[in-house]
Parts: sequence; C-alpha cells; structure tokens
Amino acid sequence: MPDYPDLHLYIGGRWRKAAEDLPVINPADEKVIGAVPVAAQQDLDAALEAAAQGFTLWRKTSPARRAEILRKAAALLRERVAEIARDITREHGKPFAQAELEVIRGAEFFEWDAGEAERLYGRVIPSEPGIRYIVHHQPIGTVAAFSPWNFPMSQPARKIAGALAAGCSIIIKAAEETPAGALHIARAFHDAGLPAGVLNLVFGVPSHISEYLIPQEQIRLIAFTGSTAVGKKLTGLAAQHVKPALMELGGHAPVLVCDDADPARAGTISAIRKIRNAGQVCTSPTRFFVHEKIYKPFTAAFLDRLGSVRTGNGLDDGVEMGPVANARRVEALETLVGDAVSKGAKLLAGGERAGGRGYFYPPTVLAEVPEEARVMREEPFGPLAVINPVASLDEAIAKANGVRFGLAAYAFTNSAANVDRITDELEAGNVSINTLEASVAATPFGGVKESGFGREGGAEGLLHYTVIKNVSHRMAI
Ligand code: NAD
Repeated sequence: MPDYPDLHLYIGGRWRKAAEDLPVINPADEKVIGAVPVAAQQDLDAALEAAAQGFTLWRKTSPARRAEILRKAAALLRERVAEIARDITREHGKPFAQAELEVIRGAEFFEWDAGEAERLYGRVIPSEPGIRYIVHHQPIGTVAAFSPWNFPMSQPARKIAGALAAGCSIIIKAAEETPAGALHIARAFHDAGLPAGVLNLVFGVPSHISEYLIPQEQIRLIAFTGSTAVGKKLTGLAAQHVKPALMELGGHAPVLVCDDADPARAGTISAIRKIRNAGQVCTSPTRFFVHEKIYKPFTAAFLDRLGSVRTGNGLDDGVEMGPVANARRVEALETLVGDAVSKGAKLLAGGERAGGRGYFYPPTVLAEVPEEARVMREEPFGPLAVINPVASLDEAIAKANGVRFGLAAYAFTNSAANVDRITDELEAGNVSINTLEASVAATPFGGVKESGFGREGGAEGLLHYTVIKNVSHRMAI
C-alpha cells in the first residue's frame, strides 16, 4: 500500500515545510502515520501576501476559465479517488467505501460551483430613460476558511469551491487531525494549473491561526464549519472587525416517525444512516420521536439492523463502521450515555467500549430518555441514537424544536397534510421527508438558531463569496 502522504503547507503555489509539526494518528490503532506542519506567523504572512497577489489575478480571470480549472481539478480528484480515500480512511477511520463517496461528493461540489461561476448573474433595475441601474456580484476578496475533521476532503471542498468559483483567493486552515483530504485538493488544483496564491493551505494551532488571520484588513470573509462553541468565538472576532461570516455549526437532528409510516423500513434506513461516519456528521439523525402506535416495530427494526453492523478498521472488507475520530469523542459519548442512564433512560444497545487499541465506540441506542438528560440537548457527534415515543405530531414537532440547534430535520410519512405542517413548523435549515439525505451539491445547506447562518451549495452558496455593487449610470452629464 502506498505511504501516507508527506504533508506540507501550500503557499503561493509552493509546497512548504514548517519549523514544527504535530503527529497524525490513525484512530483505528492509535499509531502515528504522519506529521502535519504547524504554520508559524511567517508562514501566515507569506500566505496573506500570496493570497493578495492571487486575488489580483484571479478576480480578472474570466468565469469560463475559472470554471475550466475547477472542472479539471474535480476530474483529477475523481481519477485519484482510491488513493485519496485510502488516506482519508487511515487518518479518519471511516470505511473505505464511505471515504470514496466523500471524494466523489467533494468533486461534485467543485463541478456544481464551476457551473455557478458561469451563472453569477447580476440584475438590471427598470428605470426612467437616460439612466440605468445595474447590480453586479463581485468577488468579496481573500477568504479565511476553517474546515473540520469529520469530512477531511468534502468539508474543505465546499469552501474552496465557493471561493474559487466567485473569483476570490482563499487561505484555508484544514483540520490537523485529518490533513490529507485537503492536501489532495491542493495537489489537484496545482496540477490543474491554478495560478499561484489563489489557494493557500495551512495547518497549525487553530486559535493562533484564526486570531491572527481574521483581524487582517485583507481578509474579507470568514467561513467556518465546526462546533457552535468555536463558531461563537469566531463570529465574535469577525464582528469586532465588521466582517461577514459563514457559519456551519452543530446540529442535533430530530426524526419524526409518523403513525402512517412503514416502521420496519423507516427503522432499517435510520440505523444505516445513524452509523454513517460513526455518527460524526452535523446532520446525523439522533433524536427519534416515534408515534407510540409504531414505536415497538420501529425500535425492533432499528436494533435488528444495528446488530448486524461490523465495526473495525475501515480498510478491512465488510466493515460498515470505523472508530470515532479521537479520544475526546469516546469520552464525550461515555459521559452522555452515563448521564442519560443515571436519569432513567433505557440502554437498548451498545454503551460499552470494547477493550483494545483504537477509538472504537459501539452503535448505541437509548430509549425513553427523560428530557433532563444532557443528550436531549447536547449533540453526541457519534454513533448514538435516542428513540422516544410520542403521542401526536404536535408533541413530536414541539420536541424537535426544543433545542438550540436547527440544522437538519427528518420525517417519515406519506401524508401530505403531515408534510405541510412539518415543512412550515420545523425549525431547521434542511428538512428531508422519507430520506435521510440532508443536502446535495445543487441544494443550499445551512442552519438556523445556533446551527449557524449562511448557506453552502445551491445557487445561494456562491453569493456569500461576493459583494453586491449597484452601478447607477446616467447616459450623459
Ligand atoms: P472543537 O470545538 O474543539 O473543534 C471543532 C473544529 O474547530 C475543529 O476542526 C478545530 O480544529 C476547529 N477549531 C477549534 N478551535 C478553533 C479556533 N479557535 N479557531 C479556528 N478553528 C478552531 O471540537 P472537536 O472536539 O474537534 O469536535 C467536537 C464537536 O465539534 C462536535 O461536538 C461537533 O459539534 C463539532 N463539529 C461539528 C462539525 C460540523 O460539521 N458542523 C464538524 C466537526 C466537529
């Protein structure tokens, strides 16, 4: 098997080592597999200078040429899918097949935004003769972006795609725990002929980098995906410097299983989706509110499907769920489960860590969990589901909305009347009915409440990377 990549910073079109580095650990066996460079201030200054030059050139590059480079990079990523997926599995732990799907999804984000670059239309406002009002969308400038470890390739892809399609330059700090996904993106753009300085990739101490970059005058947009706690800090810093921010933060997705749904089918689909990425997805279905009429068969189907899940090293054949990403997640899950059980919840599956190496935590189901349990309000970000019975759709909607998050929400029902109420009343940026897919490249993705603001993807996503300029033009003076 090829080695895990030799990791570098990518600044001004060149690969660069740093004075210090940090170990990259395979969560399946806790072995060190690589060394990620830690950017010092001089590296960040070099990235700022490169990004300034990159922006000057890129903003004047035609949308068609930008789109061509985005599509070429996407094609290279598709060609390299097996190599990239292997590296993602080694650094993150997810099963190889899921890593492959992630790479394809990342490529789709570039392809979608390549099209959007060519469709970034302005507007002509009707006016009296002799004067024209024309609205333009122009690139906002240099973007400072921060991407998390749960999707090492597709998370940075979203931000890089938006910035590059709009004509911005970007300095992205990708996750130190899972750096190879972003490194492969930089390689693909380098090979696709992206001019130097348009894309700059750094790693390091997250707080040092965000606190240094965000106040810089040259930085015009902050784009972050990660926890609500960190998102609040970065939003505060952005506000101090009057800069817009795009925040994709935590979620705690509810699933409403209505009394008309097929409980066996809904239970099976839900279990499969719950264990995707070992539950470390901001849209992961977690709080199941199941109508009491079908509670038993739904729970039985869910447990039955979870019972057949093979856990292990994501590179091994037949493994459906890998380890969680790090020791912090194992501790967080143990704490939430212990708290819920001590408050009266029933533990129906999992809940106990197997011995041995690796950050493994089993698929876990808590049932009849009281409202005061922490897991009802805190995102578990792991393979943990809560299944509670409800007596009505009113109760399910009230409970679904009873948290500070509002990212993804799901429902199983064939009733148009139920769908109508769910569409109007659920507080979430993304509502999916009879499917647990929250977003695709063509649809806008993002949250309400403390899940953040702004949207990535769809026609809406690109607009965040632009400023609106109105030009009033009188034909003669
Ligand atoms: P964390 O809050 O320490 O970090 C979350 C992410 O933010 C990481 O990628 C980290 O590198 C980055 N980060 C941390 N401090 C930063 C700073 N000052 N400036 C810039 N970036 C910073 O949490 P964690 O233990 O790594 O992850 C657990 C929690 O994070 C989960 O409970 C989940 O809510 C959230 N999370 C959300 C997503 C998502 O897709 N929305 C992804 C990963 C993690």
